[in-house]
Amino acid sequence: MQFRDLQKQYQVLKSDIDQAISQVLTDGNFISGTQVAELEEKLATCVGTKHCVTCGNGTDALTLALMVWGIGAGDAVFVPDFTFFASGETPAYAGATPVFVDVEEDTFNISPASLEEAILEIKREGKLTPRVIVAVDLFGQPADYPRIRQIADRYGLLILEDGAQGFGGRIGQQRACSFGDISTTSFFPAKPLGCYGDGGAVFTDNDEWALLLRSYRIHGKGTDKYDNVRIGMNSRLDTLQAAILQVKLRAFEKYELTEVNQTAERYTKLLGDIVKTPKVRKEFYSSWAQYSILLKDEAQRDGLQAYLKEKKIPTMVYYPKPMSRQGAFRGMDCVKTDLSVTADLCRRVLALPMHPYLTKEEQDVVIEEIKGYLKF
Ligand SMILES: *Cc1c(COP(=O)(O)O)cnc(C)c1O
Repeated sequence: MQFRDLQKQYQVLKSDIDQAISQVLTDGNFISGTQVAELEEKLATCVGTKHCVTCGNGTDALTLALMVWGIGAGDAVFVPDFTFFASGETPAYAGATPVFVDVEEDTFNISPASLEEAILEIKREGKLTPRVIVAVDLFGQPADYPRIRQIADRYGLLILEDGAQGFGGRIGQQRACSFGDISTTSFFPAKPLGCYGDGGAVFTDNDEWALLLRSYRIHGKGTDKYDNVRIGMNSRLDTLQAAILQVKLRAFEKYELTEVNQTAERYTKLLGDIVKTPKVRKEFYSSWAQYSILLKDEAQRDGLQAYLKEKKIPTMVYYPKPMSRQGAFRGMDCVKTDLSVTADLCRRVLALPMHPYLTKEEQDVVIEEIKGYLKF
């Protein structure tokens, strides 16, 4: 059994993917081939934003957004304490101070109450200017954007949606990667929509920002690549990845998203009485980048993980360490409020095998072994 079965996915999509790759090899336009612009159009339509600008990876996507907004020294950027490192790394890389905010135990996403408390504390101290909220769609579920938007408006902040894990999620009919003033995603192979290497994208409705994104991603280009009007970076999605993603996007929309939701429903139905299962808010829809359960304590979590490993069931701990306790942020004055929910989650969380090609039989094995270990 695989935690995320990319080999099986390839076997299913093989003829289309091989053909798409072969077309790129025949054309020879490995950078900025027509497949890249086509993909950007398809992604923008799918998500419902005016612009999609692809780039080298999900980390660069965040950096590009912060560059467009001119975020740097003296700025405070609010980031959930429970997320992948890049969400907090990129504001720090831009020279700003990431201020870590606690999350909600039920959804693993940024807590609006903790967010407002952190903003007020930064304003009270008066040393940093509050500028951006990085809202992460953790494990596939959109953050609580209706409430985060109210807070952003109240204090005049921008929302950067880190949708690296969130592509495919929704609130009502509105799709993830359209909730931020700028939103980003990642096509790292194991993300909900993954390519066969590194890749990322930035989404926005703002024409001026879209132009800046297109400039920053190619050496701050002006009218062409050899007219450089600002300091940028080299961060493009290559044509091979764009061609592969066009095939994968079709499968994602056609059935993969439905499949992972059926698996999640089944896990929740059959495990909900013995462990704490993840909660999806009313009207919210998750793309299930991860299905993470909560155990009683660290000993039970580690015991279960070791037991499942013996039974050849792969699991992962996302995340073992709060952002605020990462050595890289030491000395940065990133903590303003209580972060105890995150600390607790890091000790108790365990992600189970989850992908669109996980069979019912495999799901049953996972469920039965968990029940066996916990003696139900
Ligand atoms: C994976 C991930 C990123 C970074 O994406 P890369 O493509 O690996 O650079 C950023 N934020 C979150 C929440 C992620 O899970």
